[in-house]
Amino acid sequence: MNKNKIFKIILFTIILAAVISGGIYMYRKFYKNEYSNKNNYDLKQVSSNIISETIKNRRSIRNYANKPLDKKEILTLLFAAQGITDKKNNLRAAPSAGATYPLELYIAVGNAKNLEPGIYKYNSKSNDITKIESGDKRSELCNNALSQEWIKQAAAVIIICAIYERTTNKYSENGKKYVHMEVGAVAENVYLQAVPLNIGTVFVGAFDTDKVRKTIKANKNEEPLCLMPLGKKNINDINNNNSGSNAMTKQALEIVDLDVEKVIEELNKAFADEWFAYYQYWIGAKVAKGPLRPSVVEELVEHANEELKHADMVAERIIQLNGTPILSPKEWYEVSSCQYAEPSDFNVVPILKQNIKAEQCAIKVYNNLLKLVKDKDFVTYNMVLSILEDEIEHETDLENLLEDISLIK
Ligand code: FE
Ligand code: FE
Ligand code: MG
Repeated sequence: MNKNKIFKIILFTIILAAVISGGIYMYRKFYKNEYSNKNNYDLKQVSSNIISETIKNRRSIRNYANKPLDKKEILTLLFAAQGITDKKNNLRAAPSAGATYPLELYIAVGNAKNLEPGIYKYNSKSNDITKIESGDKRSELCNNALSQEWIKQAAAVIIICAIYERTTNKYSENGKKYVHMEVGAVAENVYLQAVPLNIGTVFVGAFDTDKVRKTIKANKNEEPLCLMPLGKKNINDINNNNSGSNAMTKQALEIVDLDVEKVIEELNKAFADEWFAYYQYWIGAKVAKGPLRPSVVEELVEHANEELKHADMVAERIIQLNGTPILSPKEWYEVSSCQYAEPSDFNVVPILKQNIKAEQCAIKVYNNLLKLVKDKDFVTYNMVLSILEDEIEHETDLENLLEDISLIK
């Protein structure tokens, strides 16, 4: 070996060693510090708004509470996926190459209020679902998808299918790529819309395409590309998930400087109001007498059930915020803003009037709560808004009944 060759080898070795140690140094200094030391990153750099809070709270969830979804929740999620958001130009919630809209959505419903188990198909134009096949197909879908338990455990499963021709007719082979991009956009919309509804979901891609197509009775040209199980989150998941939403929520709440204790206090007042409202409607329906009694009773019972649902929603939110819902009914009297109005005259008219007064009070309470959390705690904000809508409808329903009764006389 000549000197020149030895020199080259030594030089090469030195350069190689320098490159490797430089690489390790850079990795330690930048990459590792930035990504592995979680305490170092600063969420305050991210502005707080409805979208950023939703993104911070989005997770893949594979564990669901054994609770039904309701039809409104299901339609809200499907709307986020493929709803028409511009009627004039027929544009949808998720972007699509050349607005060719190759995707069709199916939903296997297993456990939902006011929806029988079965396979349904989403219609963007009517924002509604149509039943295609009866029966609970969750276990079958689970078997079609390598027995991934969460599919069976979910209350419902969205199946995103594609009709490739719609896009490949326009873009040839490239169209396929666009279809897959669109599935990602649709799935992400579902993920994000699930956050304020306290629903968990996860992107499932491993399944037998033909078997899934058969199970959901899809057409031959419809290719199932993604399954998204949906289920109410477990409270424990919300509270203890270390990658999880509540840790992030608390962090988010700090950023926007929200007085969480105050929110919990106000929610507990509303919680007491809801129980009083529930009982006032419930007992009113038992004792009411006079004109239009059957219609009045029906309405009172319906409202009672909705007030109980409100109490449930408010209690869940209190728990998510690490508070405790009032444990003793005695305390309801101490904190309630609207109080309980005992029916003394059983005639339908005074009973309706008492309830109208309670509704007007509830509307005020929720309006104030909205102001308290606006731009600060979007989960509470959305919940309060949806309860407020119900209360306004309640008041209108009762006023209408009073009017009907006055016309009889
Ligand atoms: Fe209510
Ligand atoms: Fe109400
Ligand atoms: Mg009603």
